Amino acid sequence: MTAQGLLLVISGPSGAGKGTVCRVLMSRQPQVRYSVSATTRPPRTGEVEGVHYYFKTQEQFEAMIAQDKLIEWAKVYDNYYGTPKEPVMEALRSGRDIILEIDIQGAFQVKEKYPEGVYVFIAPPSLEELRRRIEGRATDATEVIAKRMKAAAGELDQAGKYDYIIVNDTVETAALKLEAIVTAEKCRASRLSSLKPY
Ligand code: 5GP
Repeated sequence: MTAQGLLLVISGPSGAGKGTVCRVLMSRQPQVRYSVSATTRPPRTGEVEGVHYYFKTQEQFEAMIAQDKLIEWAKVYDNYYGTPKEPVMEALRSGRDIILEIDIQGAFQVKEKYPEGVYVFIAPPSLEELRRRIEGRATDATEVIAKRMKAAAGELDQAGKYDYIIVNDTVETAALKLEAIVTAEKCRASRLSSLKPY
C-alpha cells in the first residue's frame, strides 16, 4: 500500500500563531514539508530568502503568474503572495505531506482544485488577544497593524468553511490538535484506497 501525501492548508489571521504552530508540528512530524511562498512583501528582520519566502519584485511575481507557475496567488495587504506549483506537486507525487500556510483567498482557490486537501483555520482566542500579539511582534508599522486587525474580523467570518478550526490558546495545545488532525486524516479510509480488504 502506498499512502498519499497530505496537502494541509492552514489559514488564519496574521498574528494568530499559524507559523509557530506549523513549526511545532514539523518538529514532531519531520516528514511534513513546508511550502515556501513567493511574495512581493519586503523581508522582515531575520527572514531568509528561500526559507521564509522567495522575495520577488512585482515584475517577477507577475511573470510567475503569466507562466502558470503558481497554484494560487492573492493580493494580501497590498502585496502579492503565491504558492509555487512545482514543489507542491513534487511532494504529493512522492507521497510526502506538505503544508501551505496561506490566506483565505488562496485557500479557497486551492480547495477548488484539491478538495481532497485538509483545510485548517487557526483562530486567536479573541480579537483583543490578536491585537496584543500583533503589536508585541513589533515588526509592522502602525497602519499595517490596523489593516491586519480589520482583515482579521473578515477572515474569522470565513472560518466555518474550513474542515477544522483550532483556537490557538497555547501553542502546545494547538500543535497537539494539528498533529491529531494529521494523524486522523492519514487513517481516513478514502486515503487508503489501495489497502486490500481482509
Ligand atoms: P505575512 O506577511 O505576515 O508573512 O503574511 C501575510 C498573509 O499572507 C498571511 O495570512 C499568510 O498566511 C498569507 N500568505 C503567505 N503566503 C501566501 C501564499 O503563498 N498565498 C496566499 N494566498 N497567502 C499567503
